[in-house]
Amino acid sequence: MTTLAESPLPQAEPSEQDIITGLQQTVSASRLALFLQCRLKFWFRYVLKLTKPKTPSLHLGNTVHAVLKGWNKARWLQNPLTLKQAHDAYTAAWADNTEGSVNWDPGEEEEEKTTGWRLVDTYLREHHVPAEVKPDAVEVPVEADLRRHGLPKLIGILDLVQQRKIIDYKTIASTPTPEKVAHSTEIQTSSYAILYRHNTGNTEAGIQLHHLVKLKNPRVVITSLPPISQQQETRLYRQMDAYLDGLQQPHFVPSPGMHCSSCEFFNECRRA
Ligand code: SF4
Repeated sequence: MTTLAESPLPQAEPSEQDIITGLQQTVSASRLALFLQCRLKFWFRYVLKLTKPKTPSLHLGNTVHAVLKGWNKARWLQNPLTLKQAHDAYTAAWADNTEGSVNWDPGEEEEEKTTGWRLVDTYLREHHVPAEVKPDAVEVPVEADLRRHGLPKLIGILDLVQQRKIIDYKTIASTPTPEKVAHSTEIQTSSYAILYRHNTGNTEAGIQLHHLVKLKNPRVVITSLPPISQQQETRLYRQMDAYLDGLQQPHFVPSPGMHCSSCEFFNECRRA
């Protein structure tokens, strides 16, 4: 008797409604911020899942981030990296194309690669985080169940927690001002504080944004913020509520504005 080999049934593609239902279960700071900035861009990225080639600045930012992560992990293991080891890690991270490759213009890659290393070099040489103090946590994925508030689960990854301070890294092209940083990062900083509180039972000692600025002479700008206030916590919950409401009656409308100049879906938006 012959038997037919069993082949797995083909998986049905999730419908748009399945995807939206999934997006209602959990939310991260970046997803929430994008939804509040432009629902159409959110739809392109998270519902249609359109992908675009990686940009040079994203590649540079990811590479710098990977080296600082490695540097902090080594500190956590109490086996700090030398500058040479950090440079080797930078070279390896730069060559890593697993998350997509960049369409470089002639000569552009070497220039960007040098800029990125100069940022890391400046940051490490200026000792913005005491190398001898063991971090509380490095690149830790965390979540907070907010069901008692009628909200989705909040998820995120904390870059670095040291002496109860939440530290987040960013690469940027121009020098930021403290007030603008406090305002423009509020969804992210409030989310991190809530994640920290839910996972430790403690209040954070503060939040620091470490901006590595891509100038001719690289700069590091540190913005220190106090623990988030009750008002900020409530505001974040209201924003999450608006996110849930918006997904309930999905009108993915465009919100044209200054931010469109950096939107990777500009062409799709013009055709929509
Ligand atoms: S171009 Fe502007 S309005 Fe259009 S999707 Fe992008 S951010 Fe939204």
